[in-house]
Amino acid sequence: MTTQISTKALHAGHDAKNTQGTQAVPIYQTSSYVFKDSDHAANLFSLAEPGYIYTRLNNPTNDVLEQRLAALEGGVAAVATASGTAAIATTLMVILQTGDHIVASNSLYGGTYNLLANTLPRFGITTTFVDPDNPDEFSKAIKSNTRLFFAESLGNPKLDVIDLKSISDAAKKAKVPFVVDNTVASPALLNPIEYGANIVIHSLTKYLTGNGTSIGGVIIDAGTFNWANGNFPEFTEPNPSYHGLNYHEALGNIAFIAKVRIEGLRDLGSAPSPFNSFQTIQGIETLDIRMKKHSENALKLAAWLSTKEEVAWVNYPGLKTSKYNTLAQKYLPKGQSGIVTFGLKKGFEAGKKVADHTQLFSLLANIGDTKSLIIHPASTTHQQLNEEAQKTTGVTQDLIRLSVGLEDIKDLIADLDAAFAHI
Ligand SMILES: *Cc1c(COP(=O)(O)O)cnc(C)c1O
Repeated sequence: MTTQISTKALHAGHDAKNTQGTQAVPIYQTSSYVFKDSDHAANLFSLAEPGYIYTRLNNPTNDVLEQRLAALEGGVAAVATASGTAAIATTLMVILQTGDHIVASNSLYGGTYNLLANTLPRFGITTTFVDPDNPDEFSKAIKSNTRLFFAESLGNPKLDVIDLKSISDAAKKAKVPFVVDNTVASPALLNPIEYGANIVIHSLTKYLTGNGTSIGGVIIDAGTFNWANGNFPEFTEPNPSYHGLNYHEALGNIAFIAKVRIEGLRDLGSAPSPFNSFQTIQGIETLDIRMKKHSENALKLAAWLSTKEEVAWVNYPGLKTSKYNTLAQKYLPKGQSGIVTFGLKKGFEAGKKVADHTQLFSLLANIGDTKSLIIHPASTTHQQLNEEAQKTTGVTQDLIRLSVGLEDIKDLIADLDAAFAHI
């Protein structure tokens, strides 16, 4: 069929012929599926025959969402998860083992930073954080046990546009998969697989669902990584939990995503609710036009903030003054998404005050809603990080993060202007 993103967002993965002619994707709200007989069940469990077993492993509503997202990112297949965090944790647990090492960008979502810096080391998996502004640092941080590169295409909340091509070239040279969290950009603005990413992750909670109703995540496999390069015995040696299955031999370029489903979902249990997947499917239908409008409003608001006396600095990669503008023109020519950060000259207390006095901008810990959102991370989402970690993740004491929604730009400017009067 067609290859344009707005068309895929409406059609990919759903064929009404399979659902009694329903135009909408139905919600298959069931925990399990009736087997024809015991032989049928045995075939499903041994993977000799495809089909549905139990909603932790697969579900027809989740299937449509997975196929749609794989189509939007240009991957071979996808697995949806209960949250973006579950997508990241499941990916890492499926690929890595004790003793392995990750090289990651230092400008990560706070939850991801904690997973890598504090939780995974308890299982013997360590991470070196590097500055993605210098892509060479990824290569320099490689050790003999490095098995994965991880980065966000557009960092939340630092809004650094990373040089995907340089980092994926370095990953290729090191024979490790490059995993990219593309949540902030969304597939409407950027497809990391085009620049060499091997696995793309999204928190569906943000722009993809878009309406702020549901938590969700997805893992998308580009199908491009060679798991048989000698460094990933998990993929090339007989797997004891599947009658000696050799993932690489049996499944070829879908080895990783198959392992995510048949081991990751089975053992870690991070399956999404079909109802949430339905909500995300509704959101995806309008992703393309929403991302254009989010980007347009954010650019206008960033330009307005730049003129304000109270404001010390504004960070938006679409601004000509941004140090990331050159990379944004290369990687995000269609728009630079809806997140804007800025600092107030009067610092931490003034940041809290503005966040407390907006009427349209809701004070909450989320991004990517159709409605505008505001937060002062240093006093809220990032307060657990020490000052050094706050600095590397790009969260300074004065930083305010806006997720610019789809309201009229005049109303958004008036709302912030009124809040500034309280400083
Ligand atoms: C929100 C977010 C996550 C985590 O996703 P959840 O759905 O909240 O678990 C991961 N990465 C980025 C960039 C995010 O913004």
